[in-house]
Amino acid sequence: MIKARTVILSEKQKTKKTKAAKKPEPQSHRFEAEVARLLQLMVHSVYSETEVFLRELISNAADACDKLRYAAVTKPELIASDSELKIRIVIDSANKTLVIEDNGIGMSKDELITNLGTIAHSGTLAFMEKADKAKDIGLIGQFGIGFYSAFMVADKVEVISAAAGTGDVNVWTSDGSGTYTVETAEKGLVGDDFRGSRLILSLKEDAEKFLNTSEIKRIITAYSDHISFPIELAEIKDGEVSDYEKTNTGSALWTRPKSDISDEQYNEFFRSRGGVFGDPQLTIHYRAEGRHEYSVLLFVPKERPFDLFEPSRKSQISLYVRRIFISGDAEFLPGYLRFVRGVIDSEDMPLNISREMLQNNPIVASIRKAVTNRILSELKKLSDKKPEDFAAFWASFGQVFKEGLYEDHERRDQLLELAMFKTTKSEGELRSLKAYVQDLKENQTAIYYIAGEDAEQLKSSPQLEGFVSRDIEVLLLSDPVDSFWTTMVLGFDGKPFKSITQGEADLDAVKPIEDDSKDKDKPEEVDESATGILIAALKQTLADDVSDVRKSERLTKSPVCLVADAGGPDLALEKILAQQQEGADQGRARILEINTGHALIKKLAAQIKEHGISTDIEDSARLLFDQARIMDGETVSDPAAFASRLSSLMLKVL
Ligand code: ADP
Repeated sequence: MIKARTVILSEKQKTKKTKAAKKPEPQSHRFEAEVARLLQLMVHSVYSETEVFLRELISNAADACDKLRYAAVTKPELIASDSELKIRIVIDSANKTLVIEDNGIGMSKDELITNLGTIAHSGTLAFMEKADKAKDIGLIGQFGIGFYSAFMVADKVEVISAAAGTGDVNVWTSDGSGTYTVETAEKGLVGDDFRGSRLILSLKEDAEKFLNTSEIKRIITAYSDHISFPIELAEIKDGEVSDYEKTNTGSALWTRPKSDISDEQYNEFFRSRGGVFGDPQLTIHYRAEGRHEYSVLLFVPKERPFDLFEPSRKSQISLYVRRIFISGDAEFLPGYLRFVRGVIDSEDMPLNISREMLQNNPIVASIRKAVTNRILSELKKLSDKKPEDFAAFWASFGQVFKEGLYEDHERRDQLLELAMFKTTKSEGELRSLKAYVQDLKENQTAIYYIAGEDAEQLKSSPQLEGFVSRDIEVLLLSDPVDSFWTTMVLGFDGKPFKSITQGEADLDAVKPIEDDSKDKDKPEEVDESATGILIAALKQTLADDVSDVRKSERLTKSPVCLVADAGGPDLALEKILAQQQEGADQGRARILEINTGHALIKKLAAQIKEHGISTDIEDSARLLFDQARIMDGETVSDPAAFASRLSSLMLKVL
């Protein structure tokens, strides 16, 4: 027979003292400001699905067991006295408390203070940011905010914890307001060989449903069935603890046959990985046999993790060796697949492998290669069979995925096949390169692209005009990474990639589409000698700004545009490079192309032929150059001079 407060793990602990005698003055600490804010949210939450607190606490308990099992590989004495790792939950209706206990790694006094007084978990910070904005506490279920969620259901939480191997027992207590206390446990509060953590939740009045055994069983089955340690449940009735009943399947999800796992179980497991929300877009579960044996359970999320572009973002793959957790951030995948999450469990790696050794391990290298290929082939299947789902994947991760186009030259063709693009013809949808190549115009020999910051803005670039008038599709590349991979990739399906803001347009071979309204733009009455004089005059006036002035093939509507010369970076890349090396040379001088059929250019040419170069002509040349810069989303080189030229021009026409 044992009393309510002595819910303990081992049989021999069951006869210990019954009541906690507190030291007179426990040490009081203030929560870090962010925790206090979070607790504020928890304590006053009107969120209806508070049951997720149990998932979070069980998940912490399982992590603690995982950590101890790993530590015990090199220090078996840590676990010797009590080697059956487990999680226990005890319902005490009379005292309105719920106890969650594990015999895992435990926490020292200092760890209680750092772990339960501050926020280490970046997912929690992201949650707060979103919840603050949306005033939506409902996000808790999606984010998983860990330990602090206990305060949604409890008005007081006690954590009794002993770090493995120390024998020191400490008690952390808080009611979720601004402070918590930490004190050394009175002797006899727990058994002498107590190890791990016991959380005692004094339930709020409106949370008393969590004293109901079948409700707790339901929650465990729904959220935590996959936990690989036994979760045992007991009740205290009339001061006695009932027999413990195992309530979860207790085998790691990835070790079970696919046919035994429901979608919901997969989804719950995905969410239990932390820092993710929603359901996965793709679940990849298989067992590899052959040279190396391992199980893989990976997920491609639907939603972008908030820190996807942080340089410090680590891989989110957990490595297990024969069911023993080794590392939560093993580098099993290339950087461009850093959104993939899940577990790899190896049968043949050494158990005592250190995290550092992982980097040079040949088994890791071999698994890394095979798993990367598998993910790509699963994505290919998704794109073939469920193009809409693939488009959703691309919207979330395409930008990261494209990093692979310059990083992973071995798989570049495979990646190009998957890549999707906005184009001048995509109309809201995305197009694959295969579709692009299938629709090439007669005599079109290249895959054309224009890069910049905004796809919509790119659509009105003057450099596009000649392509549009010939119905040639152009990729609109608006991610910064696009400017880089395009310089590395030779081509797709034998067709080179070609920037339309660089070099000659070479459009002669492709016939323009018949368009009656185009007649007026046709350069039929171009005075070649006048054009020659104009080009010479422009070269002279703009000698400091452009490397050349020439007739354009690519313009049909605008009078002028700028292009880069054939050898160097295209306009977009030049801009990025110039931004990166602030203060350095603003790139190479560009080429000004003029539309000799344009009325303004014709008039200018005629004027120059008749009267020679005048200040007016010079001003016009400079204004045309500035106009070309503006069309490229740049600022004019000398705003004051630009304004004064424009004003004097306006004076003349008004
Ligand atoms: P997270 O688990 O996402 O890191 P939590 O707020 O849930 O965030 O927990 C904070 C930290 O407290 C954990 O990282 C862990 O170090 C520690 N912790 C929580 N629960 C336990 C437990 N039952 N045993 C040991 N350590 C724990």
